[in-house]
Amino acid sequence: MSEKVYARNVEALKNGTVIDHIPAGLGLRILDLFELTSYGERVTVGLNLSSGHMGNKDLIKVENLVLTEGQANELALLAPKCTVSVIENFEVVRKQKLAIPAEVTDLFACPNSNCVSHVEPVQSHFSVRVTEHDTKMKCKYCEKVFSKDIVVAVR
Ligand SMILES: [Zn+2]
Repeated sequence: MSEKVYARNVEALKNGTVIDHIPAGLGLRILDLFELTSYGERVTVGLNLSSGHMGNKDLIKVENLVLTEGQANELALLAPKCTVSVIENFEVVRKQKLAIPAEVTDLFACPNSNCVSHVEPVQSHFSVRVTEHDTKMKCKYCEKVFSKDIVVAVR
């Protein structure tokens, strides 16, 4: 997509955040996980938008909200290649960096159905380790290690 087309897509947003290049199908999951509708701000979601180089994509715009560094890093686990643009006065003022976090708390449920985290009133907690071929997540409670794709797919 050219910069010009991109600018036209985001021009309706005066201040806020555009999460773009989300793999198609993950947009609603991201909306839900990060509770982006809970702030009372206007949220615009585009699903199955055409995107030249990656097939279809999803896109989320949230007014007057900037993701915390922690949220941006958690987003890296779900959609490492998405772009997060901070908009001020209709312009992209910066792109937020997405870095895989060392740990994630209270976001994903443990895939192990026997894990004590499902019955005790505790926040889920995973430590994250990036290996050559995969990103592994280890549950603090049952100490099982999962591929991050397994963990992020649990609902
Ligand atoms: Zn567990």
